[in-house]
Amino acid sequence: MRSFITGVGGQDGSYLAERLVAEGTEVHALVLSSDGTPPHCPPDVVLHEGDLGDIEATRRLVLDLRPDEVYNLAAISSVALSWEEPDRTAHVNGAAAVGLMESARRCGARFVQASSAEMFGQPTQAPQTEETPIRPVNPYGAAKAFAHLSAGVYRAQGQHASSMVLYNHESPRRTERFVTRKITAGVAAIARGDADHLTLGNLDARRDWGWAPDYVDALLRAARADEPGDYVVATGVAHSVRDFVAAAFAAAGIDDWEGLVRQDERFMRPTDPSELVGDASRAREVLGWSTTVGFEEIVARMVAADLD
Ligand code: GDP
Repeated sequence: MRSFITGVGGQDGSYLAERLVAEGTEVHALVLSSDGTPPHCPPDVVLHEGDLGDIEATRRLVLDLRPDEVYNLAAISSVALSWEEPDRTAHVNGAAAVGLMESARRCGARFVQASSAEMFGQPTQAPQTEETPIRPVNPYGAAKAFAHLSAGVYRAQGQHASSMVLYNHESPRRTERFVTRKITAGVAAIARGDADHLTLGNLDARRDWGWAPDYVDALLRAARADEPGDYVVATGVAHSVRDFVAAAFAAAGIDDWEGLVRQDERFMRPTDPSELVGDASRAREVLGWSTTVGFEEIVARMVAADLD
């Protein structure tokens, strides 16, 4: 078995590479030359320098390697950044994802796309399912929607292409561009006496936060399933950013935290879905998937890692 992963430098790519190497799969991964050696990447992974956005070069590489399965985890992964670079987001998260799907089709490989709940925008239905209307409200969601819909198009043509609608999923490997790690790193700094406050944006946004390795498990199950499909991957429980902050301070043993948190317009977004929460019934029933770590434990593990 030979797998090809894009985005191995990110949280999910590193967990997926570890899983694949552990099961004895030959793993090849695309890495941006500017990124250097990806953190947490197992030494057995064969790294290929390149940019997913260079569709032709990536195609030559994939056709040369002829993998059995391709996981597309590379993306401009921040909604905030997608407002600053909407055209590059459209290219990398949209067009290049389809380019990779086409490369997988040409060599008969199974394809798994990391999609995002952001493509539902401001959903009127909660929790969201695979049938929820796709109405993104930011450039990130729009580009992800294009790739998601394209996976459906390829599937209809007989390709084993699955699209995984991943809700927020976290771990100590998250970068501080995401609110969870920003909070746990900030709380740890306050607990150590290295900072006296934490500055955030919208505290009322509600998100469905899961444990990243569980979401990687869903990607793997989709690749190996008899039939391809679209799957929502979520815990089904939403918490506010404020809840996350409270849980993080509690994990660090700080009860009276209100005065330690400031809000700043700089971290507010032009549009921000007020609540995203997913119903993963299909993934549970068809893929046998389940979550293994709950909200409080996720926060506690991230705070503990940052305190270390
Ligand atoms: P996203 O859901 O993929 O955009 O993940 P993020 O972790 O970046 O953001 C989750 C939620 O936290 C969004 O509703 C943000 O508006 C909110 N948020 C509040 N303060 C901050 C902040 O300082 N940084 C980030 N990244 N998000 C924040």
